[in-house]
Amino acid sequence: MGAFELTVDNEMLLWLRSISITRHDMEPVYHGFFPVEDVHSCFDVPLDPMAYRGKQACPICNRPSHQLHWMRYSSPAESWARGGGVLGALSVCTKCYIQVQFLAEQH
Ligand SMILES: [Zn+2]
Repeated sequence: MGAFELTVDNEMLLWLRSISITRHDMEPVYHGFFPVEDVHSCFDVPLDPMAYRGKQACPICNRPSHQLHWMRYSSPAESWARGGGVLGALSVCTKCYIQVQFLAEQH
């Protein structure tokens, strides 16, 4: 799979806004492009946010890209076994609990 990027479109934004109402008392989970448990397992592989200055801001609170949490996201082992693995930089907003942008690496 080549380089590609994912950003939140209008349809996804409506969905993210609708679920944000119900999650205040829970442990933070980050909804969006990828399953929340897969994102959680990559959360502590941080990337330097300053390297992503000028990328997509949070579509809910407008926090700029260099103030989001960036991580190196790799999809689970079984996805790689099927030939559908993805690897790249993923931003999440730690205020809104959403996935904001994914920049895949060429591989
Ligand atoms: Zn936000």
